[in-house]
Amino acid sequence: MSDLGHILVIDDQAVNVRLLEVRLRALGYRTDGTTDPAEGLRLAGECPPDLVITDVMMPRLDGYEVTRRLKSSERTRLVPVILATALDGAAERIRGLECGADEFLTKPINQLELRLRVRSLVRVGRLRKEVARRRQLSMQVVMPPKALTDPEVSPTVLLVEDDEAVITQCKLSFGHVGIETIAARGLEEARAALAVSEPRVILVDLMLPDGDGIDLLAELRADDRFRLTPILILTARDDLETKLTALECGADEFLVKPVNHRELRARVQQAVRRAQNARDQQARLADALSRSITDAGTGLHNRRFLFDDLSSRLAEQQAGSSGFALLLCDLDHFKGVNDSLGHLAGDRLLRDFAWLLRGSLRLYDLAARYGGEEFVAVLPSADAEVAVRIAERIRAEVESRDFGLGDGRRVTLSIGVTVSQPGDRQPEDVLERADVAVYAAKEGGRNCVRVRTG
Ligand code: GH3
Ligand code: MG
Ligand code: MG
Ligand code: MG
Repeated sequence: MSDLGHILVIDDQAVNVRLLEVRLRALGYRTDGTTDPAEGLRLAGECPPDLVITDVMMPRLDGYEVTRRLKSSERTRLVPVILATALDGAAERIRGLECGADEFLTKPINQLELRLRVRSLVRVGRLRKEVARRRQLSMQVVMPPKALTDPEVSPTVLLVEDDEAVITQCKLSFGHVGIETIAARGLEEARAALAVSEPRVILVDLMLPDGDGIDLLAELRADDRFRLTPILILTARDDLETKLTALECGADEFLVKPVNHRELRARVQQAVRRAQNARDQQARLADALSRSITDAGTGLHNRRFLFDDLSSRLAEQQAGSSGFALLLCDLDHFKGVNDSLGHLAGDRLLRDFAWLLRGSLRLYDLAARYGGEEFVAVLPSADAEVAVRIAERIRAEVESRDFGLGDGRRVTLSIGVTVSQPGDRQPEDVLERADVAVYAAKEGGRNCVRVRTG
């Protein structure tokens, strides 16, 4: 089984902890549970989980305080927090948001909603961690970046809504906190607005005069410009089916009308902050990557970055985090390409392969140039079985791809796969095993995948 994630459950009722743990484990997650919030904070600090789900009403330390402490500790501030509560009031939600909670689940918790929320938040948490890690590594080798978000420009929200009362209310309420509102009264108006502007956050009503807001949602998620933009659904339709469809189509929040305007504003502010952070991080990342941690020939991370990254992963593994898998890819008979077609054709092939590799991986996997015609992919939380499957997919993709070398000449590669072991201390420990596996692949006739785990 691949590692889906580690979730910490906190609830003062032992039966609730047990029940939720059973359900999460059935979904494939590792769990820890405790009825003591102080113990929960200790556990989270010791080994930050991928997600915390905490009850709100608990004696001594309530869920708000737990959230606040998690978010203010350096070690756990990136861990997503879900507040599970029997209360469904706006006041509780606002308080939760103000403490830094990422999401809410209303008890009794619906299984499908649990699955969707947990899956998306674990992903968010891992992405945050990867971005933070890369930023930290980048900082060591580049100058600290300048402020990237211009504080003078007020963030805008696109409100797709045909109810004039709601529009007026939102403009007023968001205006108070310095957020500008652009209103679109239907799908067509929304499309027109999006063609000329990039709002920080998008609010969508589902029932619009010229169609269904869900369609717009699907369009936005398919558009590179808005793939990461927070989208909040605002609707009078309160059935679970609609809600789940919206979440599956990529909505970040689902708010039922009549909505409390303080809550809506808190939600929008949170989304603006999230979007702003993501943009800053992306810009910093791009900035840093374009400098000394990038391999000029291919645009991938370079060897130095790879070694720093592996060192920090191994240190985290020592501290209890999950491990990673590593693929070492070596192009077969590459010297032959240089010899027969020239060095420039060789360079072009290296770049084309690098792009293929990057494109075959998930966002938070790492692709690096290890040496001449050798590349490494690091897959966080993947086990050997998953890694071999991915390696095999890359191998097959390369074999079938026409790299334009002429004469229909094909390219193949040999891949060595390994996974990090508890005893690994430095990058070389892992890379040596991968190297032995590549050697076995070459011995095995090339164009194949070999694995070495111990
Ligand atoms: P094998 O199947 O055993 O891996 O054979 P191979 O020819 O791929 O391996 P070998 O290690 O013998 O040769 C690698 C070649 O890659 C030698 C080197 O000149 C070439 N090379 C290394 N870096 C670059 C580069 O940046 N550009 C080009 N064009 N060639 C490079
Ligand atoms: Mg309770
Ligand atoms: Mg080689
Ligand atoms: Mg080679």
